[in-house]
Amino acid sequence: MGKTYVVVAEVRGGSLRQVALEALQAVSIAKHDGDSTAAVLIGSQITPLASELANYVEGQVYSIDHPDLEIYNPEAYLNVMKTVFERVTPDVVVLGHTALGRDLGPAIAAHLDAGQISDVTAIEKSGDDVIYTRPLYAGKAFEQKQFTGGTQVVTIRPNNIDPAAASSSPAEIVELEYAPAGSLRSIVKDIVRKTSGKVDLTEAKIVVSGGRGVKSADGFKPLEELADVLHGAVGASRAACDAGYCDYSMQIGQTGKVVTPEIYIACGISGAIQHLAGMSQSRVIIAINKDPEAPIFKVADYGIVGDLFEVVPLLTQEFRKV
Ligand code: FAD
Repeated sequence: MGKTYVVVAEVRGGSLRQVALEALQAVSIAKHDGDSTAAVLIGSQITPLASELANYVEGQVYSIDHPDLEIYNPEAYLNVMKTVFERVTPDVVVLGHTALGRDLGPAIAAHLDAGQISDVTAIEKSGDDVIYTRPLYAGKAFEQKQFTGGTQVVTIRPNNIDPAAASSSPAEIVELEYAPAGSLRSIVKDIVRKTSGKVDLTEAKIVVSGGRGVKSADGFKPLEELADVLHGAVGASRAACDAGYCDYSMQIGQTGKVVTPEIYIACGISGAIQHLAGMSQSRVIIAINKDPEAPIFKVADYGIVGDLFEVVPLLTQEFRKV
């Protein structure tokens, strides 16, 4: 009998996150003949999203729509997944390696007594086996892993696997009731968003990042303008966050966010190993630094030795013309 893949399709700000389509593509790569896919959509007022998601799934979309599910709550979401698992017995559960996936994935794995492979950046089939590649030692090495059996949970790092293409036969949408449990041990009252950026940092195709060289909160303005023109997001080094130039939600690195955009533009960032841990897998790295010896140039595909306050506005001006 074929395997059943269940993809948890994440919703944020009323939209389907791109990593949901990347997780579906991961399943398409891993699937063998006879395997089936179901997707799970959890949130509030998600009917249009269920129809959108159904275009990318061949099996079923389980939609669980309730005002209490608008904000992620670990217990509530796990309860929802338990309800889904009464309908469909998964062999493999796939989530994005996002804040939600990093939390919910292990909870699902514990519930299903499953093994887990996290932060997967590539998948390939080798005969009947599926090989998962994931970074190690802050991106300095990669390991390839495979499951030896049992139920499996996999989380996919955003921006590494192409999003799924629309399927030829849209999925059936199955709406499941959510019965709020009176016994939740904690509830999320509100989420205070610190980032004002229009584009989610972890999913942005282009990230413009500032370091201590930006010198002040105002110094981030030229970077914001460049990111705006490129429809990208603004990130930062820890030194810039520590100095109070920007919010910690923008921090990229070992103790911040991990980003893998198509283009990463590092402005006034020296390239410490802890920063590289969060961005070295970016497809193209451009560094702007006035010190030609700055270590960031060792990982950069393109380097500009110069003052960021001169270079960044020039780039913005040129990209505006395109
Ligand atoms: P600096 O190293 O001070 O570099 C500033 C750069 O700006 C210099 O290269 C300078 O030449 C250049 N510059 C100055 N003025 C200009 C100008 N006008 N134009 C162009 N260039 C200019 N760091 C992270 O980023 N993320 C993390 O997650 C992280 N986690 C850490 C965890 C631990 C346990 C530890 C110990 C450290 C961590 N760090 C992290 C800190 C890290 O070690 C570095 O201190 C930090 O990344 C340095 O930030 P920076 O490159 O902005 O600053």
